[in-house]
Amino acid sequence: MEYKLPEDLANLSELHETSLLEVLTARFKQNRIYTYIGDILVAVNPFKYLSIYERDVSEQYKCHDKRSLPPHVFAVADRAYQSMLGRLSTGPKNQCIVISGESGAGKTESTKLLLRHIMELCKANSQLEQQILQVCNSHDIEAFGNAQTVMNDNSSRFGKYIQLRFHNSSVKGAKINEYLLEKSRVVHQDDGEQNFHIFYFMLAGISAEDKEMYGLLDPRRYRYLNGRFGQEDGVQIWRSKYSDVCNAMDMVGFEEQEKVDMMTILAGILSLGNIAFETTDSDVLRVTEASRGWLKATAGQFGVQEEDLLKSLTCTTSVTRGEAIQRLHNQQQAEDARDSIAKVAYGRVFGWIVSKINELLAPQVDADVELNEIGILDIFGFENFAVNRFEQLCINLANEQLQYFFNHHIFLMEQKEYKQEGIEWETIVYKDNKPILDLFLTKPIGILSLLDEQSAFPQATDRDFVDKLNSKFKTAPNFEVVRSHTPLFTIVHYAGKVQYNGSGFLEKNRDTIPANIRELFINSVTPLLSVLFAATISRTGTLMPRKAKLQVSEDNFNSTRKQSVGAQFKHSLAVLMEKMFVASPHFVRCIKPNRSKQPDVLDSQLVMDQLRYNGLLETIRIRRDGFSWRPTFTEFVERYNILLVKPNLPLDKESCVTILNSTELSGWKCGLSRLFFKYWHQEELARLLERMGRAA
Ligand code: ADP
Ligand code: MG
Repeated sequence: MEYKLPEDLANLSELHETSLLEVLTARFKQNRIYTYIGDILVAVNPFKYLSIYERDVSEQYKCHDKRSLPPHVFAVADRAYQSMLGRLSTGPKNQCIVISGESGAGKTESTKLLLRHIMELCKANSQLEQQILQVCNSHDIEAFGNAQTVMNDNSSRFGKYIQLRFHNSSVKGAKINEYLLEKSRVVHQDDGEQNFHIFYFMLAGISAEDKEMYGLLDPRRYRYLNGRFGQEDGVQIWRSKYSDVCNAMDMVGFEEQEKVDMMTILAGILSLGNIAFETTDSDVLRVTEASRGWLKATAGQFGVQEEDLLKSLTCTTSVTRGEAIQRLHNQQQAEDARDSIAKVAYGRVFGWIVSKINELLAPQVDADVELNEIGILDIFGFENFAVNRFEQLCINLANEQLQYFFNHHIFLMEQKEYKQEGIEWETIVYKDNKPILDLFLTKPIGILSLLDEQSAFPQATDRDFVDKLNSKFKTAPNFEVVRSHTPLFTIVHYAGKVQYNGSGFLEKNRDTIPANIRELFINSVTPLLSVLFAATISRTGTLMPRKAKLQVSEDNFNSTRKQSVGAQFKHSLAVLMEKMFVASPHFVRCIKPNRSKQPDVLDSQLVMDQLRYNGLLETIRIRRDGFSWRPTFTEFVERYNILLVKPNLPLDKESCVTILNSTELSGWKCGLSRLFFKYWHQEELARLLERMGRAA
């Protein structure tokens, strides 16, 4: 027999960590993976198929009455859509849905479900909606941006913010913003991890004929794939995924030649990885005998001269006082040059795919048409691995920023307003992570600024950078010095301590493409490659053809001096936050029930840790006791005066009180300039309006 479990944790009368965990666990056992905390959705990953996403279910959640149906991610989609149309409340029209959680907690799956439901809400089955679904949901981007990791078999290795643009109730277009593709995965994967999916899909799915055309060989021979390839049943799946990717590319409108070029570039990256170097007895650097063939193959695939490729691998050319000076590489430098070519080529292909998609989905409307927006943020979760590198630092910074955004909305703004408006209120203490954000972002001595400062010195080493951090932050509360020969340091994040290995930080932050490598590719006879390198990458990471350089827009600003990766990331985070701070937010907190990706298993400790660092207990308290909807008197009267059927009510406090007293609503409060409502009051009022509408 099933017990009736609370669907909204804000209704719990007993409030402590164990009761919270008990409810979530009991619900999870009954396959009830969704639970509300007021207007916030908690989702526990079931790691198995549940029949709660069928057509008939999503039908029910269209314009539904929240309390009549169990918590669901479709309900969040519905709420965002209705709010955008101004049907639910008075706040800003633009909406953003923020999805957070660890790697493997279910963020990307939630994103897809949200998108699907929002597209169904738009009703008409236009081609554009289908395209948005196809493109944002699946094959194309995921094949290039996702990979198997220890945490998640289909882990997104980039962050994305999908902006859906609407005119009234119909969708007019979409834009995908991508953040920080983990390019280093192309050349190196830790144990138990794989390269990006596309390499495996391609090698499994390509016809024998095409394989020969692209110059692909036995997958087990490629070093960038660690010499490994899947078992037969896995390969079967990859094969079908490859045909999905090809179909998706056709739909996006890639030309035949572009597809051929893209595959050839991918094949070239694989060959490139097999080029090895050695130093002779007489101290001369050369390509090993065994890898001569790979050099030739790579040059062919990249459409460049073999000598030119060799040169860009074995020496750097710099121009001083108009004179070109060549500096020969040692073996390590040659290997680094090889890997950085692979990374930059892959990164450009990815950026290009995203920009093609954005072209396809760009809204086709006149400039004076007002567009509203629902943004969905699916950005990598907090990471803490055995070894944490520059990528983890950026990812964790993004998570700090999101946590700050969450705190700001849920705790800071809300409580500040109670005070200002004279509402009686006992302050709820939460873990403020502003000091950690400051540690990263403050100028001129935040971590990112210090990193940029060191990156600007050609002679500086990663050790120098970490020494700088140690001397500046040794007393900072969120920083810990690590005594070691390796350049290590520890940051105490909101979600726990993470030890970073500073090796490679400077290089990854600079991310410069040596002039001779750019030159090499611009002159490639493979049209796509030469286009990709003739284009400049804007500050947000989107591709801009050189021709478009003069069209400087808000987020396509193209700085003349190339910015560091850290500075670019900081900028794109700031742009994102600016957008989010002026929208109405909706939060989905994803929880990972166990580390082994098993269905029906819930590791209490693991879940408790996530509840704790997400601050969910405090969130429940503020949602239970607090007032999450706070319209001004004017806003309220304008919208709800029809409940009194009296036109021309003055837009003031008295009118508000008269209106509210005519209803059976209780528990609301009146401040100096606005009203304070519980999250559920909004729905009750919406219901009253609807009933009036029906009666009329
Ligand atoms: P994240 O993006 O947070 O890293 P994903 O969304 O990729 O995590 O989810 C990881 C895996 O968990 C998915 O590949 C899928 O197998 C499973 N999963 C996540 N959400 C659901 C769900 N709602 N129903 C069934 N399985 C899910
Ligand atoms: Mg993901």
